[in-house]
Amino acid sequence: MFRRIGVLCLLTAVLTAGVAMAQRPQQPTGPQPITVIKAGKLLDPETGTVATDQVIIVEGERIKAVGANLAIPAGATVIDLSKMTVLPGLVDAHTHMAMTYKEQPENSYYYLTYIMESSPLRAIQAASNAIQLLNAGFTVVRDVGNNAMYVDVALRQAIEQGWLPGPTVIPSGPMIGSTGGQFWPTPEMYKQHNIMYPEYIDANSPDEIVRAVRENMLFGARTIKLCIDCKPWGYSVDDIKLAIREAATGGCKVEGHVQTPDGAQRAIDAGIYIIAHGNALTPEHHTQMAQKGIFLTGTDTPFTPYHGSEQGFKRTVANLKDAYEKKVPLTYSTDFDYWNERMKDPKTGEWMSRGDLTIDFLRTWKAAAIPAVDTLRAMTINGYKAADVIKERGPIKPGFFADLIAVPGDPLADIDALRNVQFVMKNGMVFKKDGVMTPEKLFHPGPVRTPNGRWTR
Ligand SMILES: [Zn+2]
Repeated sequence: MFRRIGVLCLLTAVLTAGVAMAQRPQQPTGPQPITVIKAGKLLDPETGTVATDQVIIVEGERIKAVGANLAIPAGATVIDLSKMTVLPGLVDAHTHMAMTYKEQPENSYYYLTYIMESSPLRAIQAASNAIQLLNAGFTVVRDVGNNAMYVDVALRQAIEQGWLPGPTVIPSGPMIGSTGGQFWPTPEMYKQHNIMYPEYIDANSPDEIVRAVRENMLFGARTIKLCIDCKPWGYSVDDIKLAIREAATGGCKVEGHVQTPDGAQRAIDAGIYIIAHGNALTPEHHTQMAQKGIFLTGTDTPFTPYHGSEQGFKRTVANLKDAYEKKVPLTYSTDFDYWNERMKDPKTGEWMSRGDLTIDFLRTWKAAAIPAVDTLRAMTINGYKAADVIKERGPIKPGFFADLIAVPGDPLADIDALRNVQFVMKNGMVFKKDGVMTPEKLFHPGPVRTPNGRWTR
């Protein structure tokens, strides 16, 4: 009986993987709508330059042409952003869309969130967060762990298939770690694997590491996240190298959560792609990361009336500043996963959105005296590279997906201009215009971007 079930599961897994590989979302076929954007200023974060009076022609989901004095095709919808600065969409390279621990009732203790909130509830929270982040101009997010039963993957699929609007989600699936993951569970939590799991996958040997990486990729992970040193029995350089090799077979890069200097050194020595969290990194680590081109996805939490401490903020700013000076490839990263009742705009008294809270991390970058152009690079170019989407998404260039935003003012002169995103286009569709969300064309009652409505990875 058990054997027959095992064979059936294996067969199902193989068939599902086959469908996943064959059926990737595609643009609808047939004539594509043409949208023309008149950009008063077009900002290129890579070069830090601004071109004036540019025309961007978008056909369907992608950019067709960019330049001055381009002829406007007949029948095109024209969007006038001539008084705005147009720039590529923003990236939060480290966030948790389906994890929000609260002061009440959990006392900000995320063990309790895992127990008190179901995967379906957390999936709906993630969908809401996705809309709020897109509204603030974030068109790509890396959603790396602490996401219940693959809620991050489901969120990516739902957005990709066209059920709802949201950023492109790069999901990791559950973090892979040696026994216990990030937790110190009680035997009651641990033994049956039915309370703290599915937040982590235990993988203690080379075979188990390979299995865990494959399992996450089978279920739709686009990046692999390892707990390098969450436990004293963490991963060796060889363990990390093995995970990197295995992830590469499925086209995934590896991020390491590190919380000790020794763990950071092992991750660097193994040639990891991304290190998450900056607090355990020394100036010497920064130098090595810069030499090897290892991205940093920090927890760059600002000190605000609603969160953080002055002491913690000073340390975060000093670390970010040193990483910048040593030329570590930095990304704009929040590690955002909490909420409390003080999260209100002091001027209006209204609740801050997840987008407002995410863009508020600019406080840290300003405190570290990082020039606006480099902050913008972290929020765009480096984010696309860390998310591994740079070949098709991000830069405003012909052939790329049309993900772009517009703000009044000049973000190169004042990075806080990014707090006032007035226009958002995602995959060629207008999500926000004149400061108002108008996403009706981005909601659908079926998987409109999936051929035949079939399941995709
Ligand atoms: Zn995190």
